[in-house]
Amino acid sequence: VVCERSDVFASACAVARAFPLFTRRSASSRRTEKKHVTVEFVVVDSDGVPVHITRIVDSPCSEMNTNHFLDEIKAVGSELGITPVIIRGEELKQRGFGGIYGVGKAAEHPPALAVLSHTPDGATQTIAWVGKGIVYDTGGLSIKGKTTMPGMKRDCGGAAAILGAFKATIKQGFKDNLHAVFCLAENSVGPTATRPDDIHALYSGKTVEINNTDAEGRLVLADGVVYASKDLSADIILDMATLTGAQGISTGKYHAAVMTNSEQWEVACVRAGRSSGDLTHPLVYCPELHFSEFTSAVADMKNSVADRENAQSSCAGLFIGSHLGFDWPGVWVHVDIASPVHAGERATGFGVALLMALFGQASDDSMLNQVSPLGAPANKPEDQMERDCKRRRLV
Ligand SMILES: [Zn+2]
Repeated sequence: VVCERSDVFASACAVARAFPLFTRRSASSRRTEKKHVTVEFVVVDSDGVPVHITRIVDSPCSEMNTNHFLDEIKAVGSELGITPVIIRGEELKQRGFGGIYGVGKAAEHPPALAVLSHTPDGATQTIAWVGKGIVYDTGGLSIKGKTTMPGMKRDCGGAAAILGAFKATIKQGFKDNLHAVFCLAENSVGPTATRPDDIHALYSGKTVEINNTDAEGRLVLADGVVYASKDLSADIILDMATLTGAQGISTGKYHAAVMTNSEQWEVACVRAGRSSGDLTHPLVYCPELHFSEFTSAVADMKNSVADRENAQSSCAGLFIGSHLGFDWPGVWVHVDIASPVHAGERATGFGVALLMALFGQASDDSMLNQVSPLGAPANKPEDQMERDCKRRRLV
């Protein structure tokens, strides 16, 4: 248990309560031997990393608007000696970021694309993490109802996880180029809000007919991943987002949904999930059958699917991938964390540990090397996966 000194006693009591003694289960359905459970406490300072991330996600938009989020990014930057690149407001429009601008233009605090970059000598590859930072999601003019809007302060969970993971990863030492790209906007309602039927040109150059202003995460992320490819020349792009309510239907409350153009990375994500505790499970990746859901008569595509009962979480991810292009030669990984980002009323900090484990192969930290599924060449992901499956069947 990792906690502050003042919480040790209460945490120990909570652990004790989790082991009830009474049972009348028959011997065949329980293990009869006496069990000893050892609980180790690691006492930390009050300014630990996980607290930082959950604070951002738990904060209401009145205290965590795009200004505040940029302050958080700048604070991490100054701690690491990095000055963020920030493109904001009308400059987004001028430079062609029609996705981020279109989603955030009706809000009091303007939208922004912010980037923290770590570029060490001797780097062999360039990695970009792109986070959805919708600081509040009303749904826009396709407005959410009174029961579905509360909690939408958490729609920045992807960007928050990437900020936390970037800080922790760079602090441990990281050998490759790593960029953290934050797509920040408040999806608000006002006279300048995007209307259903409006058409936006995104940073990819592709045009999008908006048929649902509540499908905004994919619009900001499409701009973010294309920036990572075009301007940062990333070989590996991972986007992380609280993207779809359907993610919970697809993979549940505990597993994030992963979609990727690389089988090797799909396996690696599942393994990194198990070694970090931030569990993941793959979604169907099949652009040739699913992308037609976005067909538009007047633009290159719509932003929301025709049939919501046809692999909705996969389709939402495909929208983002389509702006990179399905023939893009790099590795693209999409992680939908809509459900595991919270447990009840509280943020979980989901994603930080997953990213650190998944990309641990380039870390200076030996423990992260060890847990990284892409680390040691002898550790072929496929073999390991097969062994994992067999072991599970036997238990
Ligand atoms: Zn939305």
